[in-house]
Amino acid sequence: MGGRQSVVGPGNPRQAPGTVPVAWSPVALIVQKFGGTSVGDPERIREVADHVARTVRHGDRVVLVVSAMGKETDELLRLAADVSSTHPGRELDMLITAGERKAMALVCMALHDAGVPADSFTGSQAGFLTDTTHGNAKILEVRPERVRTTVDAGRVAVVGGSQGVSTENDVTFLGRGGSDTTAVALAHALGADVCELYTDVTGVFTTDPRLVPTARRMPAVSFDELLEMTASGCPKPAMRSVEYARTHGVRLHVRSAFTWQEGTWVDEEEPNMEQAIVSAVTHDASEAKMTIAGVPDRPGVAGTLFRALADHDVNVDLIVQNVSAQGVTDISFTVPRDDIERTLEETRKLVAEVGAVGVDADPDIARVSIVGAGMRTNPGVAATMFETLADHGVNIQMISTSAIRVSCVVAESQVEEAVAALHDAFDLADA
Ligand code: ADP
Ligand code: ASP
Ligand code: MG
Repeated sequence: MGGRQSVVGPGNPRQAPGTVPVAWSPVALIVQKFGGTSVGDPERIREVADHVARTVRHGDRVVLVVSAMGKETDELLRLAADVSSTHPGRELDMLITAGERKAMALVCMALHDAGVPADSFTGSQAGFLTDTTHGNAKILEVRPERVRTTVDAGRVAVVGGSQGVSTENDVTFLGRGGSDTTAVALAHALGADVCELYTDVTGVFTTDPRLVPTARRMPAVSFDELLEMTASGCPKPAMRSVEYARTHGVRLHVRSAFTWQEGTWVDEEEPNMEQAIVSAVTHDASEAKMTIAGVPDRPGVAGTLFRALADHDVNVDLIVQNVSAQGVTDISFTVPRDDIERTLEETRKLVAEVGAVGVDADPDIARVSIVGAGMRTNPGVAATMFETLADHGVNIQMISTSAIRVSCVVAESQVEEAVAALHDAFDLADA
């Protein structure tokens, strides 16, 4: 087992000149979040307790945020489906948040065993006030007084992730992956020095290490780049937590729960002077492509369609409209696969209303994206991407760009090859 590494090493590139490194200040306040895998069984829970105990012995103060154990959230959802076809949001949230509640109590017990005084808190007790949107509640305010008092008394506060209490006094769930957001929001409310997000890989990688074995851990990444990465398929950290961290300037350290190795630092500035043109390749196979053919080309049609979809809570992404020929055009867009039925229902109504030809859904697509702040100032990046895909016989169905991202929709069966080829073409592999 390696020795304790400082929170911010003396040579850490993220350290702004002239500031006192966190590890050298007498006491740092650290929020540590452990995901489901990290607290998946009793053995792992004891390891987390050991990790926290070392941090405390090093002199730092710790607030812990935990997710539900392993796949417990999925299991609770399945249980709900087995019991009934009616899932009122209030009851579903009460059920799901029990997963985190169980984990936080067990982690506390393991901490006591490791000689670390600790108290667990539900989201409500920790001061998370949310709106009333069950299943996907938004944080309105964090009042962390109890957590602060606990920490000031030299105890570790263990907070259940992804939960709060609504303005109507009901228990709310912040949504899937919401524990990352709990950790970031708590770090901000407490003025913590850093928010550490522990996962099953050693940081944020240049691409999904499960697909490409030569993927490299990124020592640092900017909020802007990480936000584009999470929006285009990188599962870690949850996108909402990155948005929260960027808005409030919370420094993140994404790292492994199983080693003491430095992970990936996430901060405002671009990581270094010699900015890589492309920093990462991401992919997302969770969406479907919808195409409406023969849409009359006149004002108001797109507005009507996308308003109807928005009113039905369909999250539309990547919209492409063709140049019109003979007064008609095609409109393609992507939606989450789970929303195909709802989308078809709404678009069919529109097709009938405006006299379009028809609508088609293709679930077998995936999106591959390149992300990099250096793209802003370097021409030819998109061209290299398209050439690389062509060299591998990958046909591009749709293209979309932002200032620091280029995305292509391709056949799902070719996405893994596309990711590997682009990772290679932009020299991202481990040397
Ligand atoms: P957790 O269980 O900690 O919430 P997830 O299983 O949701 O974490 O996400 C972690 C996984 O995301 C990693 O095991 C890794 O394989 C995958 N992953 C995909 N793309 C990346 C990337 N660019 N960097 C790091 N991990 C990635
Ligand atoms: N346990 C919840 C989920 O699986 C919340 C979280 O882990 O962030 O989504
Ligand atoms: Mg997860």
